[in-house]
Amino acid sequence: MSITQDQVVSIHYTLADDAGEILDHSAEGAPLAYLHGRGNLIPGLERELTGKSAGDRLRVKIPPADGYGEYDAALVQRVPRRALKGVADLRVGMRVQAQTAQGARTVTVTHIIGDMITLDGNHPLAGKNLTFEVQVAEVRSATAEELSHGHVHGPGGHHH
Ligand code: ZN
Repeated sequence: MSITQDQVVSIHYTLADDAGEILDHSAEGAPLAYLHGRGNLIPGLERELTGKSAGDRLRVKIPPADGYGEYDAALVQRVPRRALKGVADLRVGMRVQAQTAQGARTVTVTHIIGDMITLDGNHPLAGKNLTFEVQVAEVRSATAEELSHGHVHGPGGHHH
C-alpha cells in the first residue's frame, strides 16, 4: 500500500538543521503516526512522503517555505516586564502566552535586559532548512472515526 490522502502513516524520523544538529526525532521503537494529507505534518514532508510505501527510506531537505515559514522580524516585540507579571520565574528560552498585534499567541522569551523583555512570535523552527531522515514503518487505511476527527487514534497517535 502506498501513501495517499487520508491514510494512516507511521514513520521513524530524525530532524536535523544545516549544522547537522538533531532537533527532534521519533521515540525509540515508537514511530509517529499521522493522518496523511490533513496538514498534520509540514507541507514539504507530506509531499515527499506521498507515494512511498512501508519500508521506504528517504532523506529530504525542506526549505522554510515548505516547513515552518520564513523568519518574520515583525513578530519580534519588546515589552516591559510588567506586561508579563503573571509569569513566574521569567527566563530566556521560555515559551509564554502573550497578547500581540496578531492576538494571543505563544512566543519565546529571547532577551531579558533590565526591565525590558524581548518576545519572538516566530515558530522556533521558522527560517530553518530542515533535513529529515525518514523510514516508513506502516501504512494503513484510516477508520471512519479517525477521518471525522482529522487525526490518528491508537499507538503513536492521539488517545481519547
Ligand atoms: Zn480523535
